[in-house]
Amino acid sequence: MTSSARPLLNRRLAEFGTTIFAEMSALALRTGSINLGQGFPDTDGPEEVREAAVRALRDGRGNQYPPGPGVPELRAAVAAHQERRYGLVHDPDTEVLVTAGATEAIAAALLALVEPGDEVVAFEPYYDSYAACIAMAGGTRVPVTLRPHEGSFRLDLDELRAAVTDRTRLLLINTPHNPTGTVLTRAELTAIAELAVERDLLVVTDEVYEHLVFDEAEHIPLATFPGMRERTVTIGSAGKTFSFTGWKVGWITANGPLVSAVRTAKQYLTYVSAGPFQYAVAEALQLPDSYFDGFRTDLRRKRDLLGDGLRAAGFEVYQPQGTYFITTDITPFGEKDAYAFCRALPERCGVVAIPNSVFYDDPDAGRSQVRFTFCKKDDVLQEAADRLRRLAS
Ligand SMILES: *Cc1c(COP(=O)(O)O)cnc(C)c1O
Repeated sequence: MTSSARPLLNRRLAEFGTTIFAEMSALALRTGSINLGQGFPDTDGPEEVREAAVRALRDGRGNQYPPGPGVPELRAAVAAHQERRYGLVHDPDTEVLVTAGATEAIAAALLALVEPGDEVVAFEPYYDSYAACIAMAGGTRVPVTLRPHEGSFRLDLDELRAAVTDRTRLLLINTPHNPTGTVLTRAELTAIAELAVERDLLVVTDEVYEHLVFDEAEHIPLATFPGMRERTVTIGSAGKTFSFTGWKVGWITANGPLVSAVRTAKQYLTYVSAGPFQYAVAEALQLPDSYFDGFRTDLRRKRDLLGDGLRAAGFEVYQPQGTYFITTDITPFGEKDAYAFCRALPERCGVVAIPNSVFYDDPDAGRSQVRFTFCKKDDVLQEAADRLRRLAS
């Protein structure tokens, strides 16, 4: 018998309800709105990659439990990708681990590396799963708030330094950053690396948007900085890079002891996943540079299409340098409650967006911020922009 006095959901998870994406996607469905909330493309990735998955499935590759660390072809392809693009050399057998998306990589890394009571410093607004995973690991999250500065969001390095205490175990970094679209600069990354070395911190860095950077911004993995290779777990994912978010193929790269630690947690979460898709992603990672360049160019155009629409509708727009999200501010409409705004938006103009306020510990920070995704077909973005114009009148 369960005691009615005791809640079913344990204390670690008590503060977490249904994710905002479930709520807003249901709202989009119910109202027939254009869903610019959750970030998933409405066009599948490259046809040859899809065909590679079909072939693997038909040929019986990956239909039974693949090896725990991932299929050798994918581990080799991940290692080759890291070396080709960043000059980072990893042993595919001991320094690469395939996971059920970046989501499992984040969970396994935190469960493996955080001791109850350890502090984990992470950027706020947080990516959806960070706070819950830190909580499940028994850690204490310490936010460092990215703040609007000259039209985009920036990190305050002094705030970051001040957030580190003797109890800090780990920095959880995300660049390019969801939801703000901030791409950390070489100078910022240098400072983060120096701090990690000086305070002897582990670093988990979520780089799932590594290929989605625009304009002059450049993605530089933290693991490439002095002293970082041996203390950094780098997370990548096929979902965002190849527009197959449903496949849930992710990976970590790190030194042997870190990979071994994360694997210990990972093997009791899913053990393995996505067998045939692993073979397909191995092929995808070997696509020529023209794929990655074309994808980036296409997304930048979409960013500008939606960004122009949002500005015309009256939003204050923070220009993202990466990811597929635009964060806006609704203060110009004389409104300041993003959550209420997002709940009313389908009724007002048939568009669904996400209130960033749910990604902050401090409910006042980000209260008036609303996030839109632009990883949708051009005509969908154009239609959304037309509908949002109603807000201007
Ligand atoms: C989408 C996303 C993830 C999750 O990636 P999956 O591979 O789909 O699990 C992790 N981190 C960030 C910042 C994301 O935007």
